[in-house]
Parts: sequence; structure tokens; C-alpha cells
Amino acid sequence: MDTVKYVLTEDRMPTSWYNIQADLPVPVPPVLHPGTGQPIGPADLAPLFPMALIAQEVSQEPTIDIPEEVQAIYRQWRPSPLFRARRLEKALDTPARIYYKYEGISPGGSHKPNTAVAQAYYNKQEGVKRLTTETGAGQWGSSLAMAGAMFDLDVVVYMVKVSYNQKPYRRALMETYGARVVASPSTETNAGRQILAEHPDSTGSLGIAISEAVEAAAMSDDTKYSLGSVLNHVMLHQTVIGQEAIEQMTLADDYPDVVIGCTGGGSNFAGLVFPFIGAKLRGGRNIRVVAVEPASCPTLTKGVYTYDFGDTTHLTPLVKMHTLGNTFVPEGIHAGGLRYHGMSPLVSHVMELGHIEPCAETQLGCFAAAVTFARAEGIIVAPETSHAVKATIDEALRCKEEGVSRAILFNLSGHGHFDMQAYTDYLAGKLEDHEYSRAEVEAALSSLPQVG
Ligand SMILES: *Cc1c(COP(=O)(O)O)cnc(C)c1O
Repeated sequence: MDTVKYVLTEDRMPTSWYNIQADLPVPVPPVLHPGTGQPIGPADLAPLFPMALIAQEVSQEPTIDIPEEVQAIYRQWRPSPLFRARRLEKALDTPARIYYKYEGISPGGSHKPNTAVAQAYYNKQEGVKRLTTETGAGQWGSSLAMAGAMFDLDVVVYMVKVSYNQKPYRRALMETYGARVVASPSTETNAGRQILAEHPDSTGSLGIAISEAVEAAAMSDDTKYSLGSVLNHVMLHQTVIGQEAIEQMTLADDYPDVVIGCTGGGSNFAGLVFPFIGAKLRGGRNIRVVAVEPASCPTLTKGVYTYDFGDTTHLTPLVKMHTLGNTFVPEGIHAGGLRYHGMSPLVSHVMELGHIEPCAETQLGCFAAAVTFARAEGIIVAPETSHAVKATIDEALRCKEEGVSRAILFNLSGHGHFDMQAYTDYLAGKLEDHEYSRAEVEAALSSLPQVG
């Protein structure tokens, strides 16, 4: 009754990323120019992204080779292990077979370096000197800071002010890697100054920090912008997770009936589930795929599927996605990485095609699940990941009620070692649940742009 670990040797690490766009029966809706309402072309994105990433954004190729330099860095922590959670199964007294893919072993402690390293590589290749980005809780900023250090790029991180003040260790991590960290909204950009003029006490949001980072990149020739989730190329880079998991499930002589991931912008979820959904689209086994989001930022369960801006001051193109409206400022829940108003357009589209079930969980239930998991498996998960743990435990308990053994696989997107304040608050009974009401959703949705 012990933990079982399925390890792939280095030579089994994927050498290409999987592009689900090639297998979709209906193409993902185009990104639109906010001025003309017409699909944008590569030239529109060139001030922000290197051409290689713009090409990946719209590629219809089924696979894209992972550059050797990127593979060399991936090998430091990939292939990541897949575990059978025998002790958790025993603690729950469930007939379910529970597996998790552990992305917490990367130097950044989450899945995010999988795309940070790739993005830094392509920018370096195209002569870029500096990257700007935003970060909420700090996982993305620290992952990009690390990748920037590896490829000798300057990194400037606009960090949501509330996190900047509450998470000094994440800031220290970014600064140790050599990044400059700016509390957002800041006075360094027009977007930041505009927000501060209207709301001098603004504690920031991801939408605002994105505006600042995009503006700073657009203003400077040698600077580009980097986004840690949402975009197609980010989903693509994360597919190493699911490709490895498929091989590891084979090692386990099993196949998941249910695959579960938490969703902020959708990248760790897509990274695990897209290769499984792709296999199904190509005639493979049917599986249930569950996306778990916080009840206080219910993009998939209460948002609408429509065109919206990716940021608050409307500097980005319009993308079709599940959104709560670009002015949405979520409650200060601890899962900072799940507090974005929108969702990956690819994840949204695949959900519309009927391949994803969304569900929303409140934070107290998620922390309770994370504590159960920690006491059984020893790993303290990130508050974001606790949403996937909650849905996994619920599914395992349903198996017990129904007296059936299903295989459940979830993505353990990151460890929570930098989030211990959240656990302290939870254990001290200081956390509260917040559920986003219909009225609040409608208020935020009133900011949606009119398209077509
Ligand atoms: C950032 C983050 C998330 C949420 O982002 P996605 O793009 O939805 O994956 C989830 N888990 C961890 C550990 C994170 O750092």
C-alpha cells in the first residue's frame, strides 16, 4: 500500500509538442483586431511576440519539434514523475485508482517553466534583449525570470500590487534570478497611471498588469511581451505533460477514465488533457475531462463565451473565450494563479465542442482536500492545485458510493512551498468562502466589447 512512482528515462522525453488544432473538427475562432473587427495577421502581433511564437499560435501542424536547446533544459526536471496515490486511496477507503502527474519538481516549483524556457529561447533567437510580463501570485514571474537568466535576457515583471505586498518571497525569487519587479498598477506606463488616476488605492489585477507589460513591450524595439498562459503557443508548450502521462499510464498498465486539472488561464490543464483528448479525437478511448476553477472566479461555469479583451485597458486584440468581463477584479482568494477574467481560447473552444466538463469549487473545501492530500501523500500542493485535488477526492468518494473502481488522473501543477501563509490562514480558521453571484457576473459583463 505504498506510493508507486512511474518514471520515464530521459530518452523517453517528448521531442515535439502536440498541437490539438490539427485534430479539431472545427477551427478555433480567429483573433480579431479591436478597431476593424477583422482577423489579425502576424504583422499585428510582431511588436509583441517573436515570429516563431506567432507561427505556433496559428499552426495547424499536428506536432512541432522542441528545439534541442529547450530539450536540454527540460531534461533537468523532465520527464516529470507520475505517481499512484495509494496512501490517499487508502485514506479515502476508495476503490478508485488515483494517479497524479507531479510538475512541482521543476526549479520554479510548477509547470510554468515548460513554456517560460521555450518562450525565452525563441525571443533570444530573434535578437530580443528584454521581456516584459505580468504576474499574479508570482509563479509565472519567477519562471520567466529563471528562463531569462538562462538565456541572458532582461526580464521586467509587473506584479499585481496585492501580491507584491503579500508575497515578498516570490519577489525575492524573481530578483535573485535578476528580474526587475514593479508593483502594478505603477506610474511607469500610461495604463498604470490611468488606473491610478481613477482608483488611487487600486491593489491591481492580472488584467491591469497585462496592460502595463504589453504597453512597455510595444513602446520599445528590443523588448517583447511574454504571457504565461491563455495563448495557443503556451497550451502547446505544456503538452509535454500529457504526452509523458500517456506513456506513464502505459507503464502502469492502466488508462484514466477521468482526467482532472485546475484552470486559471488553462495551461496546466490543457498540457495534461489535450494529448488525451487528441487521442480520443483520433479514435482512441473516451474519457471524462474535468476543469476545476474557483467559485470566486467562475470563468467557465458562469462566464460567457464571447469576444473580449485580454486586458483591462484594451491594448490586446479581441479573443473569443469564456470571460467574466475584462474589468473583473476577483476576490482576494489565495489561489492567485486562478484569478484571471478569461480562459484560453483553445480550452474554451474545446469545451464548446463538448470535450470538457467544468466545475467550480470554493476555497475552504479545496484547502481541506489539500490537507487530506498532504497527510496521505506528503506533498503540499499550491492553492491553485488544491482545486484539482478537491475534484479528485470527490470523484474517488463517488467511486466508493457507487462501488466502482475508476482510474482518476490529475495534474499536480505545483507545490505550495511559497504559499504557506495561505495554509497558516486556513489552519487558523481565517479563510472565508466567496461565491461570485449572478448580479456581480452581470455587472462585470457589462464591460464586454460589441463585436459583429
Ligand atoms: C499559474 C498556476 C496555475 C494556473 O495557471 P494555468 O495556466 O491555468 O495552468 C495552476 N497551478 C499552478 C501551480 C500555477 O502556478
